[in-house]
Amino acid sequence: MLFSKSAIYTIKEKPKDATIDSHELLIRGGFISQVSSGVYTYMPLGLKVIKKVSKIIEEEMDAKGAQQILMPAVQPAELWIESGRWNEYGKELLRFKDRNDRDFVVGPTHEEVVSDIVRRYVNSYKQLPINLYQIQTKFRDEIRPRFGLMRAKEFIMKDAYSFDTDPSLLDVSYEKMRDAYNRIFKRCGMNFRIVQADSGAIGGKDSEEFMVLSNVGEDEILVCDTCDYAANVEKATSMVNEKPSKEGHIEKIHTPFAKTIGEVSKFLNVEESELAKSLFFKNEKGEVFCFVILGSDTLNLTKAKNVVSSIELSALDNRELKSLGLIAGFLGPIGLDKNIRIIADTRLKDIDSAIVGANEENYHLKNVSFKKDVNAEFFDIRSAQEGEICSQCKKGKLKKYMGIEVGHIFKLGLKYSKFMNVVCLDKEGKQQYIYMGCYGIGVGRCAQACVEQNHDADGIIWPISIAPFEVEIIQLDKTEEISELCHLLYAQLKKSKIDCLFDDRDERAGVKFKDMDLIGIPISVIVGSKNFKNNEVEIRLRKTKEKKLCKIDECFNEIM
Ligand code: ATP
Ligand code: MG
Ligand code: MG
Ligand code: MG
Repeated sequence: MLFSKSAIYTIKEKPKDATIDSHELLIRGGFISQVSSGVYTYMPLGLKVIKKVSKIIEEEMDAKGAQQILMPAVQPAELWIESGRWNEYGKELLRFKDRNDRDFVVGPTHEEVVSDIVRRYVNSYKQLPINLYQIQTKFRDEIRPRFGLMRAKEFIMKDAYSFDTDPSLLDVSYEKMRDAYNRIFKRCGMNFRIVQADSGAIGGKDSEEFMVLSNVGEDEILVCDTCDYAANVEKATSMVNEKPSKEGHIEKIHTPFAKTIGEVSKFLNVEESELAKSLFFKNEKGEVFCFVILGSDTLNLTKAKNVVSSIELSALDNRELKSLGLIAGFLGPIGLDKNIRIIADTRLKDIDSAIVGANEENYHLKNVSFKKDVNAEFFDIRSAQEGEICSQCKKGKLKKYMGIEVGHIFKLGLKYSKFMNVVCLDKEGKQQYIYMGCYGIGVGRCAQACVEQNHDADGIIWPISIAPFEVEIIQLDKTEEISELCHLLYAQLKKSKIDCLFDDRDERAGVKFKDMDLIGIPISVIVGSKNFKNNEVEIRLRKTKEKKLCKIDECFNEIM
């Protein structure tokens, strides 16, 4: 590409809303251009990077036997009503009506559409396993779009969906994707960790996230310094909560053990203003649970009357334990004393008095069960905290890092198959549900996370695998012989299929050097009269800023 004819528009000023380096650099380097909050145009440089990341993804997905398709951005509401997510998904789901008053959504993800495809075409176990994937534009009406491509409203995702006849085969499909993801992020030049994750609104059981380690990441992760245990903080709590209680009346609690409204709002993915009603939460089976946030004034338990089937109270310190005793006592008189489970750490010194207090006759409590004998589940919650002993190896200490979630893999199991009747005939000719997995990569987020990990004060340092160009030729003087040499070199590189940007602009050397560092192409060939006299050009590496003179006729080989 000739710079003089290109739509590469670099900017000197820092954009106002850019609070992290990678966002600033992608805008200033002319990679992306904002259209509206969270909505971007990929300019030529940006699109080249997106295409390179996509190509790596395609190669690794194809190598695992996945097949590429392209599903529509617009999806009919009927599919979302069938899966139950029309009601579940909340405001991130952009809904609209067509001219005939029919409801549609702009897809934030494609489980429904792909499930519909499979139930229509797959009718025998012989047609499985299958893995369908796409690289496609998603829309999520994020509460706070920010950080450029990292948290956009409209963004490109690679999403894959596997279909298998039984859970052990789903495990095989999942492992294949895990392996592909490892290879993809390594090839993109990133330092990442795989962590145990919560499965969020998509639902399902086992799930892991691929986290690019970075101080600007929005996810907290805990990593053991001795064994391979690593988990998202969200998961470190919910893992505990999913264990069935001994009493048996609480099967799955979604209590995040959160202490502030802000944390609960983040956990539930709803705005804080909406939280009053979200404190009462329905699970997949329709059971209603109540979140109890200790120390909060907004709690209005009378609202829970008649709808709540289980209440779980938890206390992590003595102060909380006291208010917990009070709350428990308050539940009887308003008729909410059925199926209450209280969990508290026996190491808390007030435990006995709190239990006695809450059990006193005047509270009228009938069916409250206290779990005084704290089990491993509860200690797990505490070891979610930095510095505590790891719950897996029981030796190492947990260390906290911030991570950018670039990929997420899930074993969905039968969640969608049951709701949407995704079935096929098994070997005995009987109908069976199909086991499903889903696997996502944020393509733009991945490219930007790479910038976050690879830059310096002057600009981006692209790894060659996803750099917009591999080589840049910088012409310093406009003499005929220099022009001729640059054009010759450019033609030669192009012929050898090397992706090359040729800065042939009528600009001062200083301007060209600044742009060179900002855009971050790995190798530059600097051609000027001074070195030309000695039959030489200069080769410079962006990463180390190392320069070296090289004879003109050896320069091509040097680059290769
Ligand atoms: P987050 O926790 O950051 O909101 P998510 O868990 O909602 O992400 P998934 O549903 O797991 O996202 O989607 C798969 C991948 O899509 C994510 O791992 C991430 O890389 C990417 N992604 C999700 N939301 C966005 C967004 N708003 N902008 C850019 N990429 C995104
Ligand atoms: Mg999200
Ligand atoms: Mg997430
Ligand atoms: Mg996720």
